[in-house]
Amino acid sequence: MPAYKAPLRDISFVMNELLESEKLYQTLPGYEDATADLMGAIIEEGAKFAENVLSPLNQSGDEEGCHWSEAGVTTPKGFAEAYQQYVENGWPSLSASTAVGGQGMPNLVGIVINELAGTANWSWLMYPGLSHGAVKTIEEHGDDEQKRKYLTRLVEGGWTGTMCLTEAHCGSDLGLLRTKAEPRADGSYAITGTKIFISAGEHDMAENIVHIVLARLPDAPQGTKGISLFIVPKFKVKDDGSLGERNAVNCASIEKKMGIKASATCVMNFDGATGYLIGPPNRGLNCMFTFMNTARIGTAIQGLAHAQLSYTGALTYARERLAMRSLTGPKNEKGPADPIIVHPDVRRMLLTQKAFTEGGRAFIYFLAQQGDVVEYGDKERSKAADDLMALLTPIAKAFVTETGFEAANLGVQIYGGHGFIREWGMEQIVRDARISMLYEGTTGIQALDLLGRKVIGSGGKLLLGFTALIDEFCAANDGPEDAEFVRVLKAYKDEWLALSMKIGESAMKNPDEAGAAAVDYMMYSGYVCLAYFWARMAVLARHKIAEADGDVAFYEAKVMTARFYFDRLLPRTLSHKNMILSGAGNLMQMPVEMFAL
Ligand SMILES: Cc1cc2nc3c(=O)[nH]c(=O)nc-3n(C[C@H](O)[C@H](O)[C@H](O)COP(=O)(O)OP(=O)(O)OC[C@H]3O[C@@H](n4cnc5c(N)ncnc54)[C@H](O)[C@@H]3O)c2cc1C
Repeated sequence: MPAYKAPLRDISFVMNELLESEKLYQTLPGYEDATADLMGAIIEEGAKFAENVLSPLNQSGDEEGCHWSEAGVTTPKGFAEAYQQYVENGWPSLSASTAVGGQGMPNLVGIVINELAGTANWSWLMYPGLSHGAVKTIEEHGDDEQKRKYLTRLVEGGWTGTMCLTEAHCGSDLGLLRTKAEPRADGSYAITGTKIFISAGEHDMAENIVHIVLARLPDAPQGTKGISLFIVPKFKVKDDGSLGERNAVNCASIEKKMGIKASATCVMNFDGATGYLIGPPNRGLNCMFTFMNTARIGTAIQGLAHAQLSYTGALTYARERLAMRSLTGPKNEKGPADPIIVHPDVRRMLLTQKAFTEGGRAFIYFLAQQGDVVEYGDKERSKAADDLMALLTPIAKAFVTETGFEAANLGVQIYGGHGFIREWGMEQIVRDARISMLYEGTTGIQALDLLGRKVIGSGGKLLLGFTALIDEFCAANDGPEDAEFVRVLKAYKDEWLALSMKIGESAMKNPDEAGAAAVDYMMYSGYVCLAYFWARMAVLARHKIAEADGDVAFYEAKVMTARFYFDRLLPRTLSHKNMILSGAGNLMQMPVEMFAL
């Protein structure tokens, strides 16, 4: 397993130079303390924790996995101690609001810390990873008593949170869920049903686990309009906040699975467990969107994390591993062969990893910043940022995880046969990365959300909000020196709009056209989004080079990676476009029974 070394230079480049975070936070009342120095110091500490505490547990956690017994779930050696340290150092409360006992740092800083921790050890991050969403859900939709009872300990990390949506017969289609919630005389509810695949549903790291559960009231309408949201604690909480008796919620088993083996994926039985309604009855799915949006960005980070870790290993290997000579003559004359990094095909793979990693980082940090503007911006800015997030979150979740998986897989290829062997750790990265395209809504579901709800559903308004930013950037940088990026980006932006219109029109005649186009449309959109961030990075890097400002080689590498992205990755849009334009007929014409022929 490659030892994790946090890419602090690139993190600082994106946060400070590209996205000018300090300048932004000075304009957001509540975040004025978030100076570049303070954020940088926090991130450096986070990097030490990730490198020294979490990274050494990544491979051993995978080997050992979790253990279930009637008494509970035991996490791999070192996991609980690392969590203890995480809590003692105050990491869980970093970006929670001061109103609920948090440190009030921007979401962006919390997201960077999650990137660091998750790259070092994704399985470990799954335990604290869902608490933030639970906090946000209770903060936004809970009543005063719920906030008083649950938020402090969740924010401190003494308790962790879960998200209990999925049942054996339904994951994407939550309208089908059956877990029941029956009102009791004391105002609480008896929750009965079985949830599966619940991450961190049971573990040995925290005193209490607060489950956020979707269930149906007795008189609830069918489908998604009849779902309500409940808090179900593992241990009931007394009025003074101390722990009471054990609630009737138990982990029946944990899954044996392909990757993230050190993360407990639990079957949870609710046997008349005491639950408390959050938000209005039958509006649970709407309230849950708070949680799901946080979790979707959290999952996008997973794509970035695995791409980064795989690239770190592959780059070291490609510089050391000797095989054959460069096609243009020996580069390592004293050695018996050249390092494989001299070969064009190995460079293709490394640069693909690098372009997706650094582009994905810019995309996700930008999105995190929008989340901060939503929270603390004035009404107009907050609305504009919310619209951007609505459009970009499904793209970030699906595209960054799909390309993160591709990058992880390329890492195995760069190691050759050794990539397939466990001790190197590269195959673990692929196994761990695979889930990111499934949970929190599969790629297909994100793509439908993007095209159906966000683009067609808003009559193109949300898309135009983002393309206005692209227009603004292109207009401000339309000189010949940046044309290789800016003019190309502008042309893609125009094509993206035209393509969206075309799909919208054909979907009006036949809804299957939207379903048939969705994933290719999402990928197309993802490539254009990344082109926007790569163009911005390249233009900025060029200015830095011209001013001989700082580390010129770093900026030159940015321009070269941008060029690689524009020349070799962005053209993939052409095949996505052609597949979209081929229409739904080639998918839908075959009768179901003919699939078996
Ligand atoms: C390791 C792990 C951890 C998880 N953690 C959690 C957790 O903490 N909490 C939780 O609630 N859940 C969790 N899940 C569940 C996860 O979110 C679901 O598995 C996921 O949302 C997909 O649901 P499903 O498995 O029921 O697949 P299905 O919904 O049955 O989908 C099967 C396939 O059909 C496709 N499909 C379905 N409907 C459509 C459609 N309308 N159009 C096009 N394609 C469609 C899907 O994209 C997918 O490819 C976890 C799962 C795993 C494996």
